[in-house]
Amino acid sequence: MRRWNGWGDEGFNLAMPEQGQEFLASRIGDGHPLSDATLDSVCVNVPESRLRPEPGLDALIETGPEERVRHARGQSLADWLAMRSGEFGMFPDGVAYPTNNDEVRTLLRWAAEQNIHLIPYGGGTSVAGHINPVDKGQPVLTVDMGRMNRLQDLDRESQIATFGAGTPGPLVESQLRAHGYTLGHFPQSFELSTIGGWVASRSSGQQSLRYGRIEQLFAGGRVETLQGTLTLPTIPASSAGPDIREMILGSEGRLGLITEVKVRVTPLPKHESFHVVFFPDWESARTASRQLVQNRTQLSMLRLSNAVETETQLALAGHPRLISMLESFLSLRGAGDGKCMMTFGVTGTRNQTRSALKEARNICKSNNGVYTGTRLGDKWAAKRFTMPYLREALWQMGYAVDTLETATDWDNVDHLLNLIETNLQESLADRQEHTHVFTHLSHFYSQGCSIYTTYVFRVGPSYEETLARWQKLKTSTSELIVNNRGTISHQHGVGKDHAPFLPVEKGELGMLAIRSLCDTFDPDAILNPETLLK
Ligand SMILES: Cc1cc2nc3c(=O)[nH]c(=O)nc-3n(C[C@H](O)[C@H](O)[C@H](O)COP(=O)(O)OP(=O)(O)OC[C@H]3O[C@@H](n4cnc5c(N)ncnc54)[C@H](O)[C@@H]3O)c2cc1C
Repeated sequence: MRRWNGWGDEGFNLAMPEQGQEFLASRIGDGHPLSDATLDSVCVNVPESRLRPEPGLDALIETGPEERVRHARGQSLADWLAMRSGEFGMFPDGVAYPTNNDEVRTLLRWAAEQNIHLIPYGGGTSVAGHINPVDKGQPVLTVDMGRMNRLQDLDRESQIATFGAGTPGPLVESQLRAHGYTLGHFPQSFELSTIGGWVASRSSGQQSLRYGRIEQLFAGGRVETLQGTLTLPTIPASSAGPDIREMILGSEGRLGLITEVKVRVTPLPKHESFHVVFFPDWESARTASRQLVQNRTQLSMLRLSNAVETETQLALAGHPRLISMLESFLSLRGAGDGKCMMTFGVTGTRNQTRSALKEARNICKSNNGVYTGTRLGDKWAAKRFTMPYLREALWQMGYAVDTLETATDWDNVDHLLNLIETNLQESLADRQEHTHVFTHLSHFYSQGCSIYTTYVFRVGPSYEETLARWQKLKTSTSELIVNNRGTISHQHGVGKDHAPFLPVEKGELGMLAIRSLCDTFDPDAILNPETLLK
């Protein structure tokens, strides 16, 4: 059963090793957990639904409190605080579960007639407030696409697969794998996020270096809108004016409900392995990463942790004896304090992976990298989708954790990274609180890369104070990002949390163009109000 107030399956927990607890306490002090609301206590406070589904629709729509609680929030830290405190503020009035295009069209027609706000919902893994209802005086219906979760067609010749938009990551891969194919889209939220959600929020997977971002994978499909059905043909490339497919990417539920997603798939690779190299310092590690990507070395995944992230990961890894042996080995080879860990993947035929590995090792060696083989890489691969469970363990210890991510050109990476980290480290000083901050680079391009920063701080004596701490950290750092040549989001999207910062990036005319697109498809502003655009 999915956790109603946090990440993942409630039957699975990831324990924090003792050294990890000591490490965090030494950095930011001991945590003092807040007490959590229970599901029952939240359900009794859910107001009566304002929806009166007409006959025929009532079978599609659930209005019971638990369904509404479970669809009221996503996974941002602000969402966590709402769920843990029981202070949700607002619930959808009901949750619809359509199973086909006709039912989606019926829901759209009914919502337009009754002036009901509709929120398209994939896996609810948004970390930017995308799916949270807002109080505008009208009833709100969340449309959970989870029952449209099948592989509908596989065109082997063109390598195009068609999925119901509500198909979650594991079902995408297992249904393709049965035919010998992969999509290769692996966001860290893979376990719960859906293919429609990936398109709607312009997602990026951990192996985007090989398979591309969702923009490259999304070939076409079907969108049900308030103005009719939009069919996006699967053409490999086209110079026929602006691309409608591009308008749907990142539309965040504002233009319509994506019901079918056609994606470009790849035969399953024969070989794949993940490798780890340590560098003595950040400068050599960052230079090696840039050279690898600008050299077009055929890696399928690349991630570079800065010194604090490297230290944190080793502290949280458990197995202190093994880690201490590794540190002695690295130290003897020049990678001591301040070392930075790079993880990379090679995927393909035996020849492709051999040649990519050789090239990568040469570039790393020329930048003083110490190659350590596949052991740590295998660990990364095994744990890649379970790491979000650590958030639960941290919460139980009295720590809040959140991430900020952006992308910028190579010439600005260090400058922006330092601004982000320094601001996060210093923002709670007025409260005599420390923040533990660390960063990795990932999603590399010849032009630049994404910067992904994690910050951990102690929860305050109350939920209000904890939320105030988060707001200060998040708002001031988001302002710094957009004012220093960073995007407000490389992969998490805009939602409601990032919407105030979008105009800096898009400009007045750009915002006008986005708004007029929303007005064309949804003139009465029925769909997902305040997401993407205020
Ligand atoms: C632990 C964790 C790790 C994450 N890691 C990554 C990562 O590595 N890469 C990454 O890109 N993101 C990541 N995310 C963010 C999130 O998972 C992505 O934004 C994901 O694409 C959202 O998919 P979803 O199905 O959960 O969509 P939801 O959260 O349900 O919805 C997101 C938006 O898309 C709209 N939407 C959803 N489905 C449809 C549809 N069928 N039609 C129209 N609109 C729709 C919603 O209205 C909403 O605006 C992470 C989140 C968490 C919590």
